[in-house]
Amino acid sequence: MATVRNRRILLARRPAAEPSEADFEFSEVKLPDLPPGQMLLRTLWLSLDPYMRGRMRDAKSYAPPVAIGDVMVGGTVSEVVSSNLPNFAPGDIIEGRTGWQEYAFSDGTQMRKVDPSPAPISTALGVLGMPGMTAYFGLLHIGQPKSGETVVVSAAAGAVGAIVGQIAKLKRCRVVGIAGAQEKCDYVVNELGFDACINHHAPDLSHCLQNACPKGIDVYFENVGGKVFEAVLPLLNNFARVPVCGLIANYNDAQLPPGPNQVPLVLRAILSQRLNFRGFIQSDFADQKASFFSDMITWVREKRIKYREDVVEGLENAPQAFKKLFRGENFGKLLVRVARPNLR
Ligand code: NAP
Repeated sequence: MATVRNRRILLARRPAAEPSEADFEFSEVKLPDLPPGQMLLRTLWLSLDPYMRGRMRDAKSYAPPVAIGDVMVGGTVSEVVSSNLPNFAPGDIIEGRTGWQEYAFSDGTQMRKVDPSPAPISTALGVLGMPGMTAYFGLLHIGQPKSGETVVVSAAAGAVGAIVGQIAKLKRCRVVGIAGAQEKCDYVVNELGFDACINHHAPDLSHCLQNACPKGIDVYFENVGGKVFEAVLPLLNNFARVPVCGLIANYNDAQLPPGPNQVPLVLRAILSQRLNFRGFIQSDFADQKASFFSDMITWVREKRIKYREDVVEGLENAPQAFKKLFRGENFGKLLVRVARPNLR
């Protein structure tokens, strides 16, 4: 094979607040020959996800940080270019975690062959991948929605939230979304079938939410935290379930917000309303992936679950695009198209 150069994006420094392009560094290296027991993967799609902000921080978390100078972590869909592995052949489409780079070697560990028949291969990073699993397990296992209950989900037009709301509709719940733009609210109501959606920039957020949830809230799928959580808390019914999935409103904070200590208020609500908060990481449910794929592939095929992608072209645009997540500028699952397939 002719000399191949690998363009990569490395973590250059740890951001103090919102990430910027200067936190990343471009690098280009010559790829060595394919080692024994490995395959060469060419990245087609890179997923941009809020958790990556946590990996840029050197703090205790459920996963180690990216070291300065290392390739940024990230989920990818790739094609096999060449292979020394018996189970992977050139042209196979693979979902894995090969990061912000054009090529990667892999020994096949934690790589999943993608079946391109149910939906475009990019969905292996969205509705038929990690965000879909997050919505499915968080809502069904922790939220446990019952017919007629009220389910509220924040970041409702996003990769996870849009799927949460649609699954809750399949379970015959009243579903109220919270999103950051009228266009997003219109989308989740008119396209996805939510019953209502509140813009979290509305000055009377608490009042609007109360009107949209006349029977209170039985399940709150927490994606953002911050002032949205403060508006939701007083509306939670006795025995409400709160899958704590993400707190994106706080991911860029360098310190705790000022103001009165809210801990007693939150704990009193948990006690007196007998609330069930449970944080989770989707990988907690890795042993149950089969049920996810079986249900979600069926729902997507039958168009009972719809999805939306926000596609940015070119690996070099990943650092700039990443910021969209924290500004509410993405509309749907944020993806970078790194290359088009050569071998299919
Ligand atoms: P997404 O919703 O597609 O994109 C992020 C969205 O968050 C933005 O578009 C914006 O939507 C909203 N947002 C950003 N800053 C906000 C703020 N200050 N206040 C309110 N909303 C804000 O992202 P996603 O991939 O689906 O992730 C959603 C959440 O789930 C994140 O917190 C993420 O960390 C979490 N997550 C957790 C797991 C897990 O295993 N626990 C797995 C995947 C994702 P608006 O325009 O509507 O404000």
